[in-house]
Amino acid sequence: IYNFAAGPAMMPAPVIKQIQDELPSLHGSGMSILEVSHRGQDFEKIIEDAEADLRELMAIPDDYAVLFMQGGGTGQFAAAPMNLARQFKRIAVLDSGQWAARADAEARRLGFTSDVLASTKTDRYTTLPALPEPLPQDQYDYVHICVNNTIEGTMFRQLPATETTPLVGDMSSNILAQRYNVRDFGMIFAGAQKNLGPAGVTVVIVRRDLLGDAKHVPSAFDYQLFDAKHSLYNTPPVFAIYAVGLVLKWLKEQGGVDEMQRRNEAKSQLLYDYLDQSRLFFNPVKPADRSITNVPFMTGDADLDAAVVTAATAHGLLNLKGHRSVGGLRASLYNAMPLAGAEALVDFLNDFEKHH
Ligand code: PLP
Repeated sequence: IYNFAAGPAMMPAPVIKQIQDELPSLHGSGMSILEVSHRGQDFEKIIEDAEADLRELMAIPDDYAVLFMQGGGTGQFAAAPMNLARQFKRIAVLDSGQWAARADAEARRLGFTSDVLASTKTDRYTTLPALPEPLPQDQYDYVHICVNNTIEGTMFRQLPATETTPLVGDMSSNILAQRYNVRDFGMIFAGAQKNLGPAGVTVVIVRRDLLGDAKHVPSAFDYQLFDAKHSLYNTPPVFAIYAVGLVLKWLKEQGGVDEMQRRNEAKSQLLYDYLDQSRLFFNPVKPADRSITNVPFMTGDADLDAAVVTAATAHGLLNLKGHRSVGGLRASLYNAMPLAGAEALVDFLNDFEKHH
């Protein structure tokens, strides 16, 4: 079975096995990870290791805090402006897709001003928007981008030049899948459920000098408080952090982010090469902006697309139905998807094409 879901997504098989083995009794304690105290030694070591491994994998500098929070990516659409938009109370957004639009809407909902500086909505988000240059300085607390657009299948390889205005990057669907320089961002966030582990924990990486007295921020979303308390201000999502920790150790064994990027490029290239020569299927995204983790594609005929999904499911290729707003199909090729999964998909599509 290969699970192409956009999220919650496929986990590395050895990690699932380890969770299974350790579930009744964590490290010989006689207690399950589902039962242990978040203040106990076992869990303290788990969360410390998870932070250290993430720092190592992403080369996160010491002046950035690493936080494990709850509330998902959606929580961060609110937490980011509440914590960071203190001076101008104004943020800028590059509207590259539905998740960027959500960030814009959430900031407005909370009373911040949010300026959409560029949008590719009229192109159905099949290309990435570009920042107007030069970006006016000292107007915005930050510029928000969705680094990888899960629904539309685009990805920023080149980051917009925001000069001294901090860049906030939503990496929910490509954290640890592609190498980025953390220093290019003021803040990065990612819900775990695609590339990091199960749903329930959200990673926040934020430059400490951007933090300050964030008034009216609920404690559960207060970056400074979470930094001071090492993400243990209240009960954290213990199981999710444990599973993320195992995924991070697996990633290190596999060769880290550069190796993951190499594999993700190989997997996605295989699929794009097939789609580009296919006479049945196509990918609508401009080649330079294509994502290496989420690949939407279609035949142009909704009934035929549905028939592909049904036949694929019967072949053990699961969750290929496209997002309802885009239609067609979508293959998510996160870190846990082996090359053999992409090969099996291409073989299947090729075969389907021959018979249709
Ligand atoms: N940002 C991106 C890029 C996403 O893909 C998603 C979910 O798929 C979200 C944010 C929303 O995340 P959550 O469901 O964790 O709130």
